Amino acid sequence: MGTPPQLTAQQRQAALAKASASRKRRAEVKAQIKSGEHNIDSVLTLAGTDEAVGKMRVKELLESFTGVGKIRANTMMERLNISPTRRIQGLGRHQIRELREEFLRPEHLSNPGRLIVLSGPGGVGKSTIAKQLRQAGDFWVSVSFTTRKPRVNEIDGHDYFFVTESVFARMISNNEFLEWAEFAGNRYGTPQAQVEQALREGKNVLLEIEIAGAKQVKAHLPQSILVFLEPPSWEELVSRLVGRGTDGAERRAERLELAQEELAAAAFFDVILVNDQVESVVQRLVELAQN
Ligand code: ADP
Ligand code: 5GP
Repeated sequence: MGTPPQLTAQQRQAALAKASASRKRRAEVKAQIKSGEHNIDSVLTLAGTDEAVGKMRVKELLESFTGVGKIRANTMMERLNISPTRRIQGLGRHQIRELREEFLRPEHLSNPGRLIVLSGPGGVGKSTIAKQLRQAGDFWVSVSFTTRKPRVNEIDGHDYFFVTESVFARMISNNEFLEWAEFAGNRYGTPQAQVEQALREGKNVLLEIEIAGAKQVKAHLPQSILVFLEPPSWEELVSRLVGRGTDGAERRAERLELAQEELAAAAFFDVILVNDQVESVVQRLVELAQN
């Protein structure tokens, strides 16, 4: 074992003062967590720039949250495979993501919103229903990112955030998506931070996404309710896609082929609703969020 470096009296004094300031800073942040001024997201972000906070042990961080005692903190750390002495700055990207998701569990939120995921074959009526729910103010409807080109009448930031392949790829590597998937040659993804924030604020959240994405959401947030929207018949689905008039014949044929696969996935979902009348589906979704 090497000998510790010899410090001058002045250096030792400076080191002691720094350690004391760090402890004070950590105590201050822990008090802010207790008072609700900080949540898990804001502390994890702060830890990236504030060295004293970065050095806080994960165990200390968890125990600062109201309702998380030593036992629960230990259970969480074991489940997430975080060693008892780990500091925030030593957490890996996956551990950070899992930790944030852990705090979205209903037991950690006083009045969490419901997360409903609406999927179903293209043309069944998902965006029509999502639009109604958004207008009525019943749900906070997530706006996805996509590499698809806007259709006429689609507004950037309202229907989607339209981005380039390279921006989308960067967002994947920065772990910014709750889920993402490729569909009919384009990529689509749900921004994680905004969804978490809305749930934490007690809002009911609606994601209108395709099936592979819905499965990813269920894996990360088991409390989510997966709803599959079915057409009254295959003929009606074809007629809705034609009636929408947004796709040429070739693209429509491609979407219909995908729709056959999508219809087979219904069994995986928690709830199946037939979209015969928009109003009745809207009503059922509002009820699901209330129960
Ligand atoms: P999706 O988002 O699932 O691809 P859309 O919401 O774009 O589907 O709907 C496809 C077409 O079907 C649109 O023209 C829409 O007006 C129509 N539509 C949606 N729901 C119904 C319904 N219950 N009855 C009749 N037409 C509907
Ligand atoms: P469209 O191109 O018709 O707008 O969407 C094609 C498919 O992508 C639809 O099934 C829609 O629900 C889905 N979608 C939209 N946003 C997302 C998203 O963020 N993630 C995933 N996985 N699918 C999405």
